[in-house]
Amino acid sequence: MAIDISLYNAGELVTMNGKEGGSDGEETLGIIHDGAFIVREGRFAWVGTTQELKEKGHKSSIIIDANGQVVLPGLIDPHTHLIFAGSREDELERKIKGESYMDILRSGGGINRTLVMTRAATEEQLLTLAYNRIKQLISSGVTTVEVKTGYCQQLEGELKLLRVISRLNRECGIDVIGTFLGLHTLPPEFRSGEEYTSYVMKVMLPNVAASEARPVFADCFCEEGLFSSALCERYLNLSSQMGFKLKIHADEFSDAHGAEVAARTGCTSADHLENSSSEGLKMMATKGVTAVLLPLTAFYSRIRQPNFKRIKESGCTFALGTDLCPNSWVESPQLVMAFACVELGMTPAEALAGFTTGAARALSLNDRGAIKEGNLADFAMYEMPSYRFLPYRIGGSYVRSVYKRGIRIYP
Ligand code: FE
Repeated sequence: MAIDISLYNAGELVTMNGKEGGSDGEETLGIIHDGAFIVREGRFAWVGTTQELKEKGHKSSIIIDANGQVVLPGLIDPHTHLIFAGSREDELERKIKGESYMDILRSGGGINRTLVMTRAATEEQLLTLAYNRIKQLISSGVTTVEVKTGYCQQLEGELKLLRVISRLNRECGIDVIGTFLGLHTLPPEFRSGEEYTSYVMKVMLPNVAASEARPVFADCFCEEGLFSSALCERYLNLSSQMGFKLKIHADEFSDAHGAEVAARTGCTSADHLENSSSEGLKMMATKGVTAVLLPLTAFYSRIRQPNFKRIKESGCTFALGTDLCPNSWVESPQLVMAFACVELGMTPAEALAGFTTGAARALSLNDRGAIKEGNLADFAMYEMPSYRFLPYRIGGSYVRSVYKRGIRIYP
């Protein structure tokens, strides 16, 4: 039997379905005070006010009193590396003492250390570790998450990570969107980025494409000294021919022209962008590439933040992500929003758009990120007077319940 739910008495129902270019946050976010909605078969079937719901005289099998709480669309985290073994808390201390992310990587630390530990872990162990991290995200209001491979960088290991992603998608209660991160770091078996890239293109990509756990996206880490823009472009073009959608880690530590590659290859999103040029960003805007900003990664790597003003001026659509990984182990979108507001100059409304409508675009998903008729009934209730508290009151837990396709998944 189809479940029919009605929710009423939402202090602020933040639909994210407002007027584009509205004059203030309230208008652009499409906020309905004393909001209500009806969910049928896992999707929003009607959205309005509590008064209108009463007038309809609608009878639902489940009735939820939101009790004046803020109701938001389920958050979407468009960039994580949450399947990994081990941890790197000692590297935080090395960074504090002055070593850079790249110094640590070159000395065998960083991703290369995680590689050894993740290769050695079993599928079951990785599933348990990743599931625990996803539970943290769910309790923060997340109902869709992107998860990358990349910590094995050898065929069997990467296929193991892809199987973990598909099992998470089936078992953890939220949608897990998979990304094959073929070019993440140079594994010890290879001498150069060129050599490894040609192995990935000849051996790994065809196997990943034929795998039962085939992911949606292919991604690469475009950085001087790792994978050059030329290598990334070749890899992304082949991935596209094989039917993958594309993502790129672009210009995090230097301007490696990743933004330009994203535009030329037709990436859905380019992520990081701390050092991208205005020209690169404008090219991205022209081609509709979404800029995914990860401010807590720059924070933990102690590098400069992306220039949000310039990204906005370029006309790019933007999103925010946690980048949950062993370098920046962040499980709180709210903390990312706070940082994006204070350090990058986003408004609270923009920060919220970053984890909803913007993140949906970054994953090429058009059925979520907003509370509107036809969209998946993914939503969460927050004990807050207003959405403006999201980047303002942080560090505690304010999410009271989370629903995925109309079914409560938290608590
Ligand atoms: Fe990343």
